[in-house]
Amino acid sequence: MSVNEIRWNPLLREWIIVSSGRERRPWRPKGYCPFCPGTEETGFGWEVLVLENRFPALTQRPRISRKSKSIYKVRPGYGYCKVLVETTEHEGDLCDLSITQLVKVINTFAEEYETLGRDPRIKCVMEFRNKGEAIGVSLTHPHSQIYALPFIPTRIRRELKSAKLFNKRKGKCIFCHILELELEEKERVIYENSSFVTFIPFFAMWPLEVHIYPRRHIQAISQLNQHEKVDLAKCLKITTYAYNRIFEQDMPYIMVFHQAPTDGKDYSFYHFHVEFYPILRDKGKLKYAAGIEWGAGTFTYDGLPESNATKLRRVIAKELSNQNLEV
Ligand code: ZN
Ligand code: ZN
Ligand code: FE
Repeated sequence: MSVNEIRWNPLLREWIIVSSGRERRPWRPKGYCPFCPGTEETGFGWEVLVLENRFPALTQRPRISRKSKSIYKVRPGYGYCKVLVETTEHEGDLCDLSITQLVKVINTFAEEYETLGRDPRIKCVMEFRNKGEAIGVSLTHPHSQIYALPFIPTRIRRELKSAKLFNKRKGKCIFCHILELELEEKERVIYENSSFVTFIPFFAMWPLEVHIYPRRHIQAISQLNQHEKVDLAKCLKITTYAYNRIFEQDMPYIMVFHQAPTDGKDYSFYHFHVEFYPILRDKGKLKYAAGIEWGAGTFTYDGLPESNATKLRRVIAKELSNQNLEV
């Protein structure tokens, strides 16, 4: 029997998910893809598919290995770990999907957020995508992941705290204000349409870090209307396309959706957005989170976000005018 528990770090005041079953996880199995159509798990007749993670970090029947002791808190690792298979095609990135297919993916994210969020024990639904061997992706078939957590993770908690404080002091949304600042300066904006703005934030940590904010103040993907879903699909397609062109190399990246927690409290001060952390800083060169980044929690940004934004904006303009990139 495997163990699924969460352990409290009393120094950093955050949870760590501990699971003993994941050690057996296969690394890039040869010649067999569990996400292609027609396997035992996948079957046929689908366009987008949600599967249970076969090696879940969190489960609905968690077993703990020990009891809490003083500040060493242990809780059951209750939750859901799912895989969203984005296409029947075995290879590719988000930019290889059509806008129609991307909207289907976005709809599935919205449905899962709502369904999993309704479980009273789930406090936060994290939806994200890891891409590339360098990020540790064990299967190349295009897919995202969904983790439904029994707690609010650190990054979301910190954003909520800032948003709440800003709202109290200034009477408005901190994300709406960031949008205003980015649109005023325009220097870091790489693409915008009627519903979304795509930019390298003023405070980027990764060289080509991109954030996508909806212009409308909403808290989750499920609140997007049809037109906005199409506009978000365009932003996702354009961003990933530009990533893979800028160094003429496939870009390994992490994409994450930041949405309001689902613990039933009021988060109307929060603002849904997407964040991309690409890990290449140049062709063939990785940016590492090393001593100063991991050891201190302080990122160093080599170069200027503004000049990297100019580079990305140029790639996008060129590809759009060549009609290599159709949105
Ligand atoms: Zn496949
Ligand atoms: Zn807002
Ligand atoms: Fe965020």
